[in-house]
Amino acid sequence: MKRPNRKRINPAAVATRMLVRAEVAERRYVRGVQNLFDHIQGEYLALADMRMDSGIHKKTPWLAALEIRILALVRSAGEKLFDRMAIEVVAASAWAIKDTLPAITLADTGFSAQMAVFREANLSLLDEAFREYAGAVRVVFESPSAIGATVSQLQELLKQAGVGTRARAELIARDQTLKFNGQLAKARQVAAGVLKYTWVTSRDERVRATHKALDRRVFHWGEPTPIGYEPGQDYQCRCVAVPVLDHLDNKA
Ligand SMILES: [Zn+2]
Repeated sequence: MKRPNRKRINPAAVATRMLVRAEVAERRYVRGVQNLFDHIQGEYLALADMRMDSGIHKKTPWLAALEIRILALVRSAGEKLFDRMAIEVVAASAWAIKDTLPAITLADTGFSAQMAVFREANLSLLDEAFREYAGAVRVVFESPSAIGATVSQLQELLKQAGVGTRARAELIARDQTLKFNGQLAKARQVAAGVLKYTWVTSRDERVRATHKALDRRVFHWGEPTPIGYEPGQDYQCRCVAVPVLDHLDNKA
């Protein structure tokens, strides 16, 4: 028997709540990695300037020292950026469902261990991106054409070498925030006893056809989906899983 006074949920409204504050955290994280990239690129550009002044045209030990310092910076800045994003998404996720599900604390979800694994994987992705950039920078400094280049020519080559990395770092921040938000939503719902969810897309032009086909379909948590991912887990996916409360109704 369903409780007649049970508030029915509007999937579209809940879906909007599940994304809106997480997207604020996402934008902040993206700006954070952009700033990190720009700072690091500034260090490489300054090195190009110094290298020319010094008249050293061989592989410079400065580059190796700078690489070590930069990768340490990527780690420490990456940790701060991730942790801030995670705090914001945890709060966003609790807020999104506060009127829909019973209050579930992070401790109730057992998500902390999963979060630690997620954090390490996220930091590895940033590390890989900036290592690749360091490699591209090294190629610029060590190429024969660098020898006769002016400071501004060298700096231009360094800027070109970084274009892909900046974009990649932005994508990592974006993608990881959405995945984190989706995994946390699942953990909260499962901990609250929710068995099923409604797949809701963000209903804009960016939604892939394969995801659009799933809009408003109901799945059991853990059940394989036609695209092989749960909401928010495919690359840059903005779909969310809105809890279906039938089971909770029946239990009450
Ligand atoms: Zn999607």
